Amino acid sequence: MEYIKAHVRDVMDFPKKGIVFKDLTTVFKDPRALHTIGWDLSQIYRDKGVTKVVGIESRGFIGGSILAFELGAGFVPVRKPGKLPADTLKASYDKEYGTDTIEIHRDAITEDDIVVLHDDVLATGGTMLAAYNLVKQMNPKKIYINFIIELGALNGRALLPAEAEVTSLITY
Ligand code: AMP
Repeated sequence: MEYIKAHVRDVMDFPKKGIVFKDLTTVFKDPRALHTIGWDLSQIYRDKGVTKVVGIESRGFIGGSILAFELGAGFVPVRKPGKLPADTLKASYDKEYGTDTIEIHRDAITEDDIVVLHDDVLATGGTMLAAYNLVKQMNPKKIYINFIIELGALNGRALLPAEAEVTSLITY
Protein backbone atom coordinates (compact mmCIF):
# COMPACT_ATOMS: atom_id res chain seq x y z
CA MET A 1 0.00 0.00 0.00
CA GLU A 2 2.83 2.39 0.87
CA TYR A 3 4.31 1.68 -2.56
CA ILE A 4 1.06 2.73 -4.29
CA LYS A 5 0.67 5.74 -2.00
CA ALA A 6 4.16 6.93 -2.86
CA HIS A 7 3.18 7.03 -6.55
CA VAL A 8 -0.03 9.10 -6.20
CA ARG A 9 0.59 12.66 -7.44
CA ASP A 10 -1.22 15.61 -5.84
CA VAL A 11 -2.02 18.29 -8.41
CA MET A 12 -3.07 21.59 -6.85
CA ASP A 13 -5.97 23.64 -8.28
CA PHE A 14 -7.03 21.08 -10.93
CA PRO A 15 -9.50 21.14 -12.62
CA LYS A 16 -10.30 24.35 -10.72
CA LYS A 17 -8.93 26.44 -7.85
CA GLY A 18 -9.14 24.82 -4.42
CA ILE A 19 -9.23 21.18 -5.64
CA VAL A 20 -6.29 18.95 -4.78
CA PHE A 21 -6.51 16.41 -7.60
CA LYS A 22 -5.34 12.88 -6.80
CA ASP A 23 -3.59 11.92 -10.04
CA LEU A 24 -3.30 8.15 -10.51
CA THR A 25 -1.57 8.23 -13.90
CA THR A 26 1.69 8.18 -11.95
CA VAL A 27 0.51 4.96 -10.27
CA PHE A 28 -0.73 3.30 -13.46
CA LYS A 29 2.49 4.00 -15.38
CA ASP A 30 4.59 2.17 -12.78
CA PRO A 31 4.58 -1.58 -13.54
CA ARG A 32 4.89 -2.71 -9.92
CA ALA A 33 2.24 -0.26 -8.67
CA LEU A 34 -0.17 -1.29 -11.46
CA HIS A 35 0.32 -4.96 -10.68
CA THR A 36 -0.11 -4.34 -6.94
CA ILE A 37 -3.40 -2.54 -7.55
CA GLY A 38 -4.78 -5.47 -9.54
CA TRP A 39 -3.70 -7.92 -6.87
CA ASP A 40 -4.86 -5.89 -3.85
CA LEU A 41 -8.28 -5.10 -5.37
CA SER A 42 -8.88 -8.70 -6.37
CA GLN A 43 -8.02 -9.96 -2.87
CA ILE A 44 -11.00 -8.02 -1.47
CA TYR A 45 -13.45 -9.82 -3.79
CA ARG A 46 -11.75 -13.18 -4.36
CA ASP A 47 -14.43 -15.44 -2.81
CA LYS A 48 -17.50 -13.35 -3.48
CA GLY A 49 -18.65 -14.86 -6.78
CA VAL A 50 -18.35 -11.56 -8.67
CA THR A 51 -19.61 -11.86 -12.28
CA LYS A 52 -19.35 -8.21 -13.47
CA VAL A 53 -17.17 -5.23 -12.65
CA VAL A 54 -18.72 -1.88 -13.60
CA GLY A 55 -16.12 0.86 -14.19
CA ILE A 56 -16.98 4.58 -14.26
CA GLU A 57 -15.64 6.72 -17.16
CA SER A 58 -12.91 7.26 -17.55
CA ARG A 59 -10.41 6.63 -14.78
CA GLY A 60 -12.58 3.83 -13.38
CA PHE A 61 -12.03 1.87 -16.61
CA ILE A 62 -8.40 1.17 -15.73
CA GLY A 63 -8.68 -0.34 -12.24
CA GLY A 64 -12.09 -1.82 -13.15
CA SER A 65 -10.71 -3.74 -16.12
CA ILE A 66 -7.78 -5.04 -14.12
CA LEU A 67 -10.08 -6.15 -11.31
CA ALA A 68 -12.47 -7.88 -13.75
CA PHE A 69 -9.56 -9.69 -15.40
CA GLU A 70 -8.12 -10.83 -12.05
CA LEU A 71 -11.53 -12.13 -10.89
CA GLY A 72 -12.44 -13.79 -14.19
CA ALA A 73 -15.48 -11.49 -14.34
CA GLY A 74 -16.91 -9.38 -17.19
CA PHE A 75 -16.40 -5.61 -17.50
CA VAL A 76 -19.20 -3.06 -18.03
CA PRO A 77 -18.58 0.66 -18.73
CA VAL A 78 -20.62 3.49 -17.22
CA ARG A 79 -20.12 6.40 -19.63
CA LYS A 80 -20.81 10.07 -20.23
CA PRO A 81 -23.91 10.86 -22.30
CA GLY A 82 -24.01 9.96 -25.99
CA LYS A 83 -21.05 7.56 -25.91
CA LEU A 84 -22.80 4.19 -25.57
CA PRO A 85 -24.26 2.96 -28.87
CA ALA A 86 -27.23 0.84 -27.73
CA ASP A 87 -30.26 1.45 -25.49
CA THR A 88 -29.26 3.04 -22.13
CA LEU A 89 -30.44 3.99 -18.66
CA LYS A 90 -29.41 7.53 -17.53
CA ALA A 91 -28.86 9.38 -14.24
CA SER A 92 -27.84 12.98 -13.43
CA TYR A 93 -25.96 13.99 -10.27
CA ASP A 94 -23.89 16.71 -8.56
CA LYS A 95 -20.15 16.32 -8.14
CA GLU A 96 -17.28 18.06 -6.36
CA TYR A 97 -16.81 20.35 -9.36
CA GLY A 98 -20.09 20.57 -11.35
CA THR A 99 -23.09 18.54 -12.54
CA ASP A 100 -22.95 15.50 -14.80
CA THR A 101 -24.96 12.68 -16.40
CA ILE A 102 -23.96 9.03 -16.77
CA GLU A 103 -25.33 6.14 -18.78
CA ILE A 104 -25.18 2.35 -18.82
CA HIS A 105 -26.42 -0.11 -21.41
CA ARG A 106 -29.85 -1.40 -20.44
CA ASP A 107 -28.81 -5.02 -21.06
CA ALA A 108 -25.43 -4.77 -19.28
CA ILE A 109 -26.48 -6.42 -16.00
CA THR A 110 -28.90 -9.28 -15.25
CA GLU A 111 -30.64 -10.51 -12.09
CA ASP A 112 -28.07 -13.32 -11.83
CA ASP A 113 -25.11 -10.94 -11.58
CA ILE A 114 -22.96 -10.16 -8.56
CA VAL A 115 -21.51 -6.71 -9.29
CA VAL A 116 -18.57 -4.62 -8.12
CA LEU A 117 -18.88 -0.92 -8.95
CA HIS A 118 -15.41 0.61 -9.27
CA ASP A 119 -14.01 4.15 -9.60
CA ASP A 120 -10.56 5.56 -8.94
CA VAL A 121 -11.47 8.24 -6.36
CA LEU A 122 -14.33 8.66 -3.87
CA ALA A 123 -14.84 12.40 -3.33
CA THR A 124 -18.42 13.50 -2.50
CA GLY A 125 -19.85 10.13 -3.59
CA GLY A 126 -22.35 11.67 -6.03
CA THR A 127 -20.95 9.89 -9.08
CA MET A 128 -20.93 6.50 -7.40
CA LEU A 129 -24.41 6.93 -5.93
CA ALA A 130 -25.77 7.69 -9.42
CA ALA A 131 -23.99 4.60 -10.80
CA TYR A 132 -25.32 2.50 -7.91
CA ASN A 133 -28.88 3.68 -8.62
CA LEU A 134 -28.51 2.81 -12.31
CA VAL A 135 -27.25 -0.69 -11.61
CA LYS A 136 -29.83 -1.23 -8.85
CA GLN A 137 -32.60 -0.77 -11.45
CA MET A 138 -31.33 -3.96 -13.13
CA ASN A 139 -31.83 -5.85 -9.87
CA PRO A 140 -28.61 -7.89 -9.59
CA LYS A 141 -28.15 -10.34 -6.68
CA LYS A 142 -25.59 -8.07 -4.99
CA ILE A 143 -23.79 -4.76 -5.58
CA TYR A 144 -20.43 -3.99 -3.96
CA ILE A 145 -18.70 -0.60 -4.20
CA ASN A 146 -14.94 -0.10 -4.49
CA PHE A 147 -12.38 2.68 -4.94
CA ILE A 148 -8.62 2.91 -5.11
CA ILE A 149 -8.60 6.21 -3.14
CA GLU A 150 -11.09 7.59 -0.63
CA LEU A 151 -10.95 11.27 0.36
CA GLY A 152 -12.11 10.78 3.95
CA ALA A 153 -12.61 14.48 4.73
CA LEU A 154 -15.40 14.74 2.12
CA ASN A 155 -17.29 11.87 3.79
CA GLY A 156 -18.64 10.51 0.49
CA ARG A 157 -19.00 7.14 2.18
CA ALA A 158 -21.98 8.49 4.17
CA LEU A 159 -23.90 9.02 0.91
CA LEU A 160 -23.44 5.42 -0.22
CA PRO A 161 -25.65 2.50 0.88
CA ALA A 162 -24.12 0.46 3.73
CA GLU A 163 -25.33 -2.77 2.08
CA ALA A 164 -22.80 -2.14 -0.73
CA GLU A 165 -19.95 -2.77 1.77
CA VAL A 166 -17.81 0.11 0.45
CA THR A 167 -14.06 -0.59 0.29
CA SER A 168 -11.03 1.49 -0.74
CA LEU A 169 -7.33 0.67 -0.88
CA ILE A 170 -6.10 4.03 0.42
CA THR A 171 -7.85 6.63 2.60
CA TYR A 172 -6.56 10.20 2.91
P1 AMP B 1 -17.56 12.47 -6.55
O1 AMP B 1 -18.82 12.24 -7.32
O2 AMP B 1 -17.51 13.82 -5.92
O3 AMP B 1 -17.29 11.35 -5.57
O4 AMP B 1 -16.39 12.50 -7.60
C1 AMP B 1 -15.81 11.38 -7.99
C2 AMP B 1 -15.33 11.49 -9.42
O5 AMP B 1 -14.63 12.70 -9.67
C3 AMP B 1 -14.39 10.38 -9.67
O6 AMP B 1 -14.61 9.90 -10.96
C4 AMP B 1 -13.03 11.00 -9.53
O7 AMP B 1 -12.19 10.54 -10.54
C5 AMP B 1 -13.23 12.49 -9.70
N1 AMP B 1 -12.68 13.29 -8.62
C6 AMP B 1 -13.35 14.10 -7.79
N2 AMP B 1 -12.56 14.74 -6.93
C7 AMP B 1 -11.32 14.31 -7.20
C8 AMP B 1 -10.03 14.60 -6.65
N3 AMP B 1 -9.87 15.47 -5.64
N4 AMP B 1 -8.98 13.95 -7.17
C9 AMP B 1 -9.14 13.09 -8.19
N5 AMP B 1 -10.31 12.79 -8.76
C10 AMP B 1 -11.40 13.38 -8.27
